[in-house]
This record gives sequence, structure tokens and C-alpha cells, in this order.
Amino acid sequence: MEKKSAALFAEALQYIPGGVNSPVRSCASVDSVPLFIASARGSKITSVDGVEYIDFVESWGPLLLGHAHPEVTRAVLEAVERGTSYGAPCENEVILAKEIHAALPSVEMARMVSSGTEATMSALRLARGFTGRKKLLKFDGAYHGHGDAFLASAGSGVATLSIPGTPGVPEAVIMDTLIAPYNDLAAVENLCRQYPEDIAAVFVEPCAGNMGLVLPEPEFLPGLRSLCDRYGALLVFDEVITGFRVAYNGAQGYFGVKPDLTTLGKIIGGGMPVGAFGGKREIMEYLAPSGPVYQAGTLSGNPVAMAAGIAALKVLKTSDYPALEQKVEIFCRNMEEIFARKNIPVCINRIASMFTIFFTPVKVRDFAGAKTADTKLMTKLYKGLRQRGINFAPSAFETAMVSFAHSEENFSKTLAALEEIRF
Ligand SMILES: *Cc1c(COP(=O)(O)O)cnc(C)c1O
Repeated sequence: MEKKSAALFAEALQYIPGGVNSPVRSCASVDSVPLFIASARGSKITSVDGVEYIDFVESWGPLLLGHAHPEVTRAVLEAVERGTSYGAPCENEVILAKEIHAALPSVEMARMVSSGTEATMSALRLARGFTGRKKLLKFDGAYHGHGDAFLASAGSGVATLSIPGTPGVPEAVIMDTLIAPYNDLAAVENLCRQYPEDIAAVFVEPCAGNMGLVLPEPEFLPGLRSLCDRYGALLVFDEVITGFRVAYNGAQGYFGVKPDLTTLGKIIGGGMPVGAFGGKREIMEYLAPSGPVYQAGTLSGNPVAMAAGIAALKVLKTSDYPALEQKVEIFCRNMEEIFARKNIPVCINRIASMFTIFFTPVKVRDFAGAKTADTKLMTKLYKGLRQRGINFAPSAFETAMVSFAHSEENFSKTLAALEEIRF
């Protein structure tokens, strides 16, 4: 039932490094070959072998409405008919920027780009240009795209595939990246004291989603806010995952902490390649052409991608986030009970429509805790679910994504599969 996938993968290995166009799609860490997907709809993906899987990856986060949502699809088709790119402004760019501002009031102005990586790279350059400072503070196991400065102690594929250093990234670049453990305010304060006038920005995933899901402890985000204020660093929330997912008004709305800059991606593109960064007017106006910090993009604000994003946000705006969160909570509790009966220690972290099963007795609050998870059990889980028509991220350090399209039947089928799997 995976013959065509295996054949395509063998061929892909000849022409594409590692056979995949993004390392997280490699199933090497779970001792499998990737499934090649032929189509997707709602909560399900269908492989080239014609097998249907309940999907808890959702293209790694963009598809909170599920695959091929009819309103998003219609918006894309209508936009394509009007041309795929103009290289000149279009109305949809204004509409999307306004809608982002309405949802996230801290984003007074936004610049559209084509990926989350571009958003974080550009936000860092802007923070450095605006403050006249060089250093970046990020957290151990956090992932902010593959920009040079962020590839120190990175999460996501870097963690999954145990890639140690970062060949190709000059040491001089990494020298300006400071690392603190997630949820460790004292470590952040120490670095601030050590470099009181050098830190341009503190980048944080307000819920860390790339070392598996790790939630901020109550004092963490407010504490970062006050340290940034005290030391003149910009606080940047990387909401590429959490924006419009944790709540319509993002993690900043959910936790009530206001960053100086926000980076977005994934959901705001409705499944098309989109990213954005934005924040305070005085900072954003430092960007070319109104200011001196240069940033540009041939396909930025692409009319088709903007149409997809606008359509997705329009549906999400009236979607019942608390109801979805409640479903996920019950689902996670049921999973905990199953693992308890099997005598397998787990820590399931969850918020809104995201969760991670860590196979560890430790309460996971940072990357060191995440790394105590048993990756062999994760491999068994991944393979066991896949055999039973359920698609999880092929990694112990990723976040499972639930969509508004997931049904009670999807959850109960997944629970039944977990019961069956022999760990
Ligand atoms: C996915 C992700 C990125 C990178 O976005 P791409 O579109 O993959 O470049 C950046 N930050 C976070 C928190 C992400 O999860």
C-alpha cells in the first residue's frame, strides 16, 4: 500500500537532495520513507497509492481550516483568472494588512513576504537597523526559519535530524546570537546584564512549537516584555505558527502581552506561500522605501496568495476556537488514559489546536526536557499510526496540528489505533 510512494521516493533521491524539498518531510528519523501525496481534502490526505490518512500535520500548520477548504479554493481560482502576479500594488494587499491589524492591534503596519523565513530574517534586519545594535537573543530549540543568525540551537528539522553545527553559516554571524533556555527568565536577565547595550531583539515563539510543543509559564512572556523595556531591546513574537491558531488574535491576544514586532506565516497564506512581519509604526517606517533598511520581494503580496489568506481569515474570524480547544483537550486526556493503561510515561503538552506527545516522565518546559523523550517509542507510534491510516509528523520534536475539519470520528479512530499499537 506504499509501493508508488516508495518508487517515487527512490526516483526523487536521484534528483532532489534527500528526496525532499524541506528536511522535515524526510521520514528518516522514524525509519520510514515519505508518503507522496496525490490529493487532500478536509482532515484527510490521500497518497499516490490511493490510501487515505487522517492528517495531523496540516502542511505543518497553515491548514487550520483543513485541506482544500471550499471558500479558500474558490478565492484562489477567482484570483488566478485575474492574473498571477502584477509587480505592482493590488487591493488585496491592503485588505489583508488591515485584517491583520484588526486581529493583532500591535501590528500597526505590516510588510508581506513569501515565507516565514523571510519574515523573521527581515524582522531581525529591521530590529538591528532600528536599534543600531547587533545581537539577537533566541531560545534553545526554537525555530525561526533557516536564516543564518537563527541556526544556532535550532529546533524543527535541525533537532529531528540531529544536525550538530551549521556548516555554511559564518562563525561571525552566529557570534551575535545569544541563547537562553525557554522559560528561563533568569538566564535572559543575565544575558541582558552582560550585554546591556548590544541586544537588538529578543525573538521568541510565544508557544514554542518546534521542539515539540512547549508552553510559556505564566511569568515568562510578561517577564520578557519588561526585560526588553528595561534594556532597550525589541521584543519579537514569532507567531508564524501561533498567529490565528492559538486564537484569532494570536498568542499575543491569548496571553495579553504586546510585542514590538510580530512575524507571521503559515495560516495567513491559507495554504499559499505567504509570510509577513509587522509592528509599531515608528519601527516599520524604518523599512525601505519609507526608511533606510532594505527589504524587497518580486512575489511579495502576491495577488493569488493574498486572496487565499483573506478567504482563510474570513472563515476563521467566525470559527469557534474554544470549541476546538475543548475537543483537543478531551482527545489528549483520552490519549493520556490509554498510555497510562499501557504503563508508558508520557507528557502531552497542548494548547488550542496543537499538541505534542513526549514519551518521557518529565514535565517538558524547555528543549532539555523535550530531549529526554524516547525517540524509539515515537518511531513505533509513527509507524503504528501510519499503518492504520493516520498521519503524524515524523519526529519526536514537532507539534501535531488539529483543524476545524477534524471530526469526532477522526479522533475516535486515532484513539482506537493507539489502543492497538504495541509499544
Ligand atoms: C515554520 C516556521 C518558520 C518558518 O516559516 P517558513 O514558511 O517555513 O519559512 C518560522 N518560525 C516559526 C515559529 C515556524 O514554525
